[in-house]
Amino acid sequence: MNNSAVHAVRLRSVSRRYGAGDHTVTALDDVSLAFPSGSFTAVMGPSGSGKSTLLQCAAGLDRPTSGSVVVGDTELTRLSETRLTLLRRERIGFVFQAFNLLPSLTAEQNVALPLRLAGRRPGRARVREVLRQVGLGDRAGHRPSELSGGQQQRVALARALITRPDVLFGDEPTGALDSRTGHEVLTLLRGMVDDAGQTVVMVTHDPVAASYADRVVFLVDGHVHGELTGANADDIASRMTRLEAVPC
Ligand code: ADP
Repeated sequence: MNNSAVHAVRLRSVSRRYGAGDHTVTALDDVSLAFPSGSFTAVMGPSGSGKSTLLQCAAGLDRPTSGSVVVGDTELTRLSETRLTLLRRERIGFVFQAFNLLPSLTAEQNVALPLRLAGRRPGRARVREVLRQVGLGDRAGHRPSELSGGQQQRVALARALITRPDVLFGDEPTGALDSRTGHEVLTLLRGMVDDAGQTVVMVTHDPVAASYADRVVFLVDGHVHGELTGANADDIASRMTRLEAVPC
């Protein structure tokens, strides 16, 4: 088995600094992490610990100041902007706290959008299949305003999955949902990992959301500060409480 089959994404000694001189902020400091294919990882840490920066660098939305990011067997840091955009479009899915759907388009049209942007003709059967996967087979013709928050996030999930990405990144994907609806979305994510071998990496501040993951990676001050495997929400919450007490 080659390495790309083992790890969907690898970060090697990734640092990201913002600003210059006295005003330099080190958001990520020499972070090395691997996300195995078919695994579900949650990333947690106090506010300002570098979670969003980590996700943005891993997803090719931001470039590290040093170190390397490898998606499958492609080193992102060496790609031109054009190639990076293509790779993001074809091989990376992203869901955000805000669903970011286009209000004038139906669910079906929103889901088909990444394929249209890539110049591919979206097959109706494929679009319907992904909508069915997220439990919205009967909502294809609805506009976002006609859907609940949880349904809108499921449309966003279908849109992220339409290209069959190597990895799906989530930045607080349940942050705007009530706990019951959040549970539905997390159950879907868990199912995609278990049934379809999807790789998921999700930033969250919610220990319950993180407990759906196989592994929780903790960040403090731009560093990886340990991890938990197969932990329940109480264990994750007490680890977070201790981390928030770590002096900077
Ligand atoms: P988190 O997602 O854990 O809250 P972030 O990754 O957003 O943390 O931020 C990590 C650190 O980097 C913080 O100190 C933040 O202020 C800083 N930072 C993030 N983005 C920028 C930016 N564009 N310019 C300057 N500093 C930034």
